Amino acid sequence: MSAGDQSRGARVRREPPRLLMAAVESMSRITPHMARIHLHGQALAEMDHPQPAASVRLFTPFPGSDELPSVVWNGNAYRLADGTRPLIRTFTPLHFDSAAGRLDLDVVLHEAGAATRWLETAQPGDPVAVSGPGRGYTVDPEPAGYLLVGDESALPAIRQVIEAIAPDVVVRVVVEVGSSEACQELPFHPGLHAEWAIRTEGGHPGSALLPALRAADVDNAVTAWAAGEAGAMFHVRKYLLEGRSLDRRRVTVRGYWKVRAV
Ligand SMILES: Cc1cc2nc3c(=O)[nH]c(=O)nc-3n(C[C@H](O)[C@H](O)[C@H](O)COP(=O)(O)OP(=O)(O)OC[C@H]3O[C@@H](n4cnc5c(N)ncnc54)[C@H](O)[C@@H]3O)c2cc1C
Repeated sequence: MSAGDQSRGARVRREPPRLLMAAVESMSRITPHMARIHLHGQALAEMDHPQPAASVRLFTPFPGSDELPSVVWNGNAYRLADGTRPLIRTFTPLHFDSAAGRLDLDVVLHEAGAATRWLETAQPGDPVAVSGPGRGYTVDPEPAGYLLVGDESALPAIRQVIEAIAPDVVVRVVVEVGSSEACQELPFHPGLHAEWAIRTEGGHPGSALLPALRAADVDNAVTAWAAGEAGAMFHVRKYLLEGRSLDRRRVTVRGYWKVRAV
């Protein structure tokens, strides 16, 4: 970066954790709308163990290619040699085994996704790189109850949060999915009540979630965690704080992706 850039206040971000080389070991379908990718690489042993609902950045070849292009950190983001963006996406490190160098990710398959297009042609042995983990979520050790809310992209994180909640806690889960085929079996928890809100075809993200949330039987002492499409999450947060008067110290809401403006 030139001195000129700095004087104009160009944003300089701390370089993220190093990109660790790995490869696709295998892939499977959890539902017709979600793929599980199993990655393997000895370098993954360098990654710290993630908290629940943490993140990793997955750098993949472009769809149809089996080569990982070179990238450089320009002080703000990774870029290819010609200055364009590489294919790097954020996912939840669902299962991580440091000693074995194994990492599993659940990836939503949707029409507009570059990651979906890459997955359609990816083969075992294809190279990837992983950086992380990013910040996760500290599960409330003494909640009055738990409310977990999200869309398909939040399901891997919701799975992990369910597993980290004490067995004597009532856990209500409200998840919006695009069709009944996208519903998944959730981890066993004795206090779990799950509701699947099915979006009508062409419905906006959140269009089934908000009504389901309004109908959910939760009191205002619960601890809540929510993630999904950013616009929908804005309304979820507002509803939890204003409509349900939840204590904001017990409410965590994260935007995981954004509908592309057309
Ligand atoms: C902390 C964190 C954890 C995440 N964990 C996961 C995870 O475990 N699994 C997962 O699948 N996603 C997860 N996401 C969301 C994921 O990073 C985004 O959905 C990402 O955009 C997917 O890349 P893509 O190549 O599929 O779509 P992109 O090429 O990035 O997006 C193209 C367009 O597709 C649409 N789009 C993007 N994502 C979705 C979606 N999920 N559903 C429908 N339409 C979409 C948008 O209109 C977008 O403009 C997480 C995000 C964050 C921040």
